[in-house]
Amino acid sequence: MCIVTELCHNYAKRYPHKFVSIGHPSSVILVMFYITPIIFNGLLYKISWVVATFITYNILGNMLFCYSTNTSVECLPKDRQLPVPGEENLWHYCEICQKLMPPRSWHCALCRCCILKRDHHCIFAATCIGHNNHRYFFWFTFYLTIGTALSLATSLIYAVMSGSFLPWLIIKDSIEIKGIFSSYCQYLIFILNNLACGVPAIMLAFQIQIIYLNASYYEINNRSYNLGFRKNCKLIMGQRGLWTFLSPSLKSPLPHDGTQWQMKPKD
Ligand SMILES: [Zn+2]
Ligand SMILES: [Zn+2]
Repeated sequence: MCIVTELCHNYAKRYPHKFVSIGHPSSVILVMFYITPIIFNGLLYKISWVVATFITYNILGNMLFCYSTNTSVECLPKDRQLPVPGEENLWHYCEICQKLMPPRSWHCALCRCCILKRDHHCIFAATCIGHNNHRYFFWFTFYLTIGTALSLATSLIYAVMSGSFLPWLIIKDSIEIKGIFSSYCQYLIFILNNLACGVPAIMLAFQIQIIYLNASYYEINNRSYNLGFRKNCKLIMGQRGLWTFLSPSLKSPLPHDGTQWQMKPKD
């Protein structure tokens, strides 16, 4: 295994935040400024810029909205932090917050509070994913997967065009043609792409199942709240449903505040 791969792997393991903040932008820059102009020209090159800008906007925008949207129980108005009469049995007591909490919410040790319909704590967005920001997290993982997959595909097209499928052949070719610097640029793109594409793709697969069943990350096969795909979608994405793919700034109010959950009728 190449020393560059080993170094990248170790760095990603030790500093995942820094790796993402360095790896993703540098991968985009290298692909868009170095490889894309070689394999596309004219209108195709302009289209690739529009697509790359749209994807990058949605990755960064959804990550920012995810981080800045409060989804803790504390963000509710005071009167909504208590169960409505007759629903006390659905709420549970949090030993750490020392009060009753709504169904599907649970405590996060890192955020130090209970999160509405908690999915999981995301180390990349540095916040919990819950009822109010789940939509942004879904599109964040979606565009991250699409973006890194397109970047990888662009690198592979270049590999095919240059007559070699495998990274080490590309290195050999480019050393002969363009020198050592360009060869390492291309090889680095492959390494960053492979590492950066795998994690969001796995996360996206989980999130698709979560939306499909209206489940959560730690109860991925729980079908208790599965009301059908259309309703599940609106409960997570808001009134505009899957149209929220267009932009994180698109207004899409959620159907409720995350304290009362309709359960799937018993068969
Ligand atoms: Zn709590
Ligand atoms: Zn958390």
